[in-house]
Amino acid sequence: MRILVQKFGGTSVANLECMKQVRAKVLAARERGYKVVVVLSAMSGETNRLLALADEWSSEPDPAETDALVVTGEQVSIALFSMLLKDSGIKARSFLGFQIPIVTSDTFGSARILSIDDSRLRAELETHDVLVVAGFQGCTADGRLTTLGRGGSDTSAVALAAALGSVECEIYTDVDGVYTTDPNLCSTARKLDRITYDEMLEMASMGAKVLQIRSVEFAKKYNVPVHVRSTFTDTTGTLVTQEDSSMEAVLVSGIAYDKDQARITLRSVPDRPGVAAAIFVPLSTNGVVVDMIVQNPSREGVTDMTFTVPRKDLKKTLTLMEGIREETEALEVLHDVSVAKVSAIGVGMRNHSGVAAKAFAALRKENINILMISTSEIKITCLIEEKYTELAVRVLHDAFGLSSNTEH
Ligand code: ADP
Ligand code: ASP
Ligand code: MG
Repeated sequence: MRILVQKFGGTSVANLECMKQVRAKVLAARERGYKVVVVLSAMSGETNRLLALADEWSSEPDPAETDALVVTGEQVSIALFSMLLKDSGIKARSFLGFQIPIVTSDTFGSARILSIDDSRLRAELETHDVLVVAGFQGCTADGRLTTLGRGGSDTSAVALAAALGSVECEIYTDVDGVYTTDPNLCSTARKLDRITYDEMLEMASMGAKVLQIRSVEFAKKYNVPVHVRSTFTDTTGTLVTQEDSSMEAVLVSGIAYDKDQARITLRSVPDRPGVAAAIFVPLSTNGVVVDMIVQNPSREGVTDMTFTVPRKDLKKTLTLMEGIREETEALEVLHDVSVAKVSAIGVGMRNHSGVAAKAFAALRKENINILMISTSEIKITCLIEEKYTELAVRVLHDAFGLSSNTEH
């Protein structure tokens, strides 16, 4: 049995007209001889609507109940789409995460997939042409509903592709591939034919929401080729795949940005062993993911500790920092939410010097001040004032020769 997993995002299932386009893609895969496992997101805007409802009803929505609420978005999509398939004479049925089951951790709101039992799906594929699975959701071992974090349907799809041995995982969305930068932000962005797992991981971690980070981690771990493409055209998209030698020839493959950032500074912390642990251990045990960290001795015996966190974690972080300030006798806690990260990413950086200098020079030309810098083997990230994000993305995109000649 040849199985193909196809995932369609929120804009692809936004209404009946869009769902008919989705059906055409599924029928085309059937004609190519595949049994198809379709993974759907909620209709666009629906997850946000449900989360807003939770905030309206409760001052601090219970995480488990929030998940029980938001999983309903995907349930609507899979039921409606299964009806549409049946109208076309396709043998189809819908599946919620817990009916498979997709078992996850109990970290409500950002659960991790622990296991997928493929036996039920395989058995159903004997008698069905297409199975329509709700993305973004699973259940704990003791049966509570969970969600996999925003954009989590990508991860559901790649995990199912790995479990079912799908030839590749097709991710259908509203753009026709992975671009050198967000095509909705930069009109000269160019579609990439291929991108390595590692580059895609950095792009996703640095803010390119076209694929959820965990889906790329899964794809890399289980070596699943991911084909990102458009629901609304027939063009070939971008293949996310293993690296080969030709890919190293390109210095920088893409520019990502992330406005969902907050910068925190703990001023004049005593400069002694254990201070960094006193700050960052509580953040980690409270599930706050810290990204950039800079420690700057400000004067004899004291240091400033500056770091960034996602904006949604700012409140939690400030509460924790107030306690830590007292404990460490630091002077004060400062914070700033008008910041953004811009990153240049490429496996070619490994073997070339001067990439960081080129990025800094490009930003200087536009008078964009760099607030913090971090680097990895294949990435350079600068924290800048949020109001310069679009400009910074464009100048970096040009500086590394990524722009196409024609605007789209
Ligand atoms: P879906 O609802 O189909 O999952 P998303 O909105 O999650 O779609 O992801 C697609 C969006 O990702 C695009 O509309 C685009 O604005 C954004 N995006 C950001 N960076 C990139 C990039 N480098 N290449 C393509 N799309 C990108
Ligand atoms: N519906 C979920 C979200 O909006 C999951 C997804 O679309 O991938 O985040
Ligand atoms: Mg998405």
